[in-house]
Amino acid sequence: MGSEVKLSVLFTRDEIAATVNKLAAEIRQDYLSKNPILIAVLKGSFMFLSDLIRQLDFPLEVEFAQLSSYERGTESSGKIRVVQDVQSNIKGRHVLVIEDIIDTGFTAAFFLDHLRRKNPASLKLCALTDKPSRTQVKVNIDYLGLTIPDKFIVGYGLDWDERFRHLPDIYVVEDKG
Ligand code: 5GP
Ligand code: MG
Repeated sequence: MGSEVKLSVLFTRDEIAATVNKLAAEIRQDYLSKNPILIAVLKGSFMFLSDLIRQLDFPLEVEFAQLSSYERGTESSGKIRVVQDVQSNIKGRHVLVIEDIIDTGFTAAFFLDHLRRKNPASLKLCALTDKPSRTQVKVNIDYLGLTIPDKFIVGYGLDWDERFRHLPDIYVVEDKG
């Protein structure tokens, strides 16, 4: 593992921006007068969340949660843990979970179950990307941006070992050095 990682562009910043705008329009329609709580799953969703909410011109609140999904490397183990839970009370509130990517589905399924036990008025999922070829647990994605192939992606908040989160486009890691 060195610095010689080969990346190739999968989605440009313009394609991402168009996707975020499309999702924002859908979310606006459904949540305009609901004062929802948007819960971004750290760390990967921070950039998506910040672009998305700037397109939402109605009252809403923002929360963060951090989950551990990968025990080691890039393989999901199915064993998920809440590292940092939501701080505010979501009981009776309209909750929208903001995810960067749905891979096996373990993380999102676990987190939705976790939140459901807190009795929100409604609970939906928005994901920037989905890898349908990797599904192990079926989760319903209410607002989906981009479908991606079975590749490891980085950029636009997504990392590989904490690298590449700051890149404005989304890349496929072609060669892990
Ligand atoms: P799942 O539990 O669905 O297998 O994994 C979900 C989490 O794993 C995502 O929220 C993301 O943090 C991480 N992940 C899955 N696939 C990728 C990928 O291609 N690139 C990066 N950077 N993270 C991924
Ligand atoms: Mg994530």
